[in-house]
Amino acid sequence: MMRAQKPEAELIAEALETGQLSVPDEHGFHHELYATCPADDSHVAPARTIWKRDAAGRHIDQLEFHCPRCGRTWQAARTELHLR
Ligand SMILES: [Zn+2]
Repeated sequence: MMRAQKPEAELIAEALETGQLSVPDEHGFHHELYATCPADDSHVAPARTIWKRDAAGRHIDQLEFHCPRCGRTWQAARTELHLR
């Protein structure tokens, strides 16, 4: 379920830049970030947030995921992130 007006990748980029792990839609429902486990395709919520701070403020630099099914821990690339 996605907002139609912007591509998912753009919404995710904006969320990370503003330190959010979810994106609200026009109904106020928050779509949470997840990544798909490379081993078993589980949808996994972020386990750890790695921040970076620069002159513009505090941003999410990396998200670390831990798959409850296979135990894998990994840092997902931006292109591997999706919104529920
Ligand atoms: Zn897994």
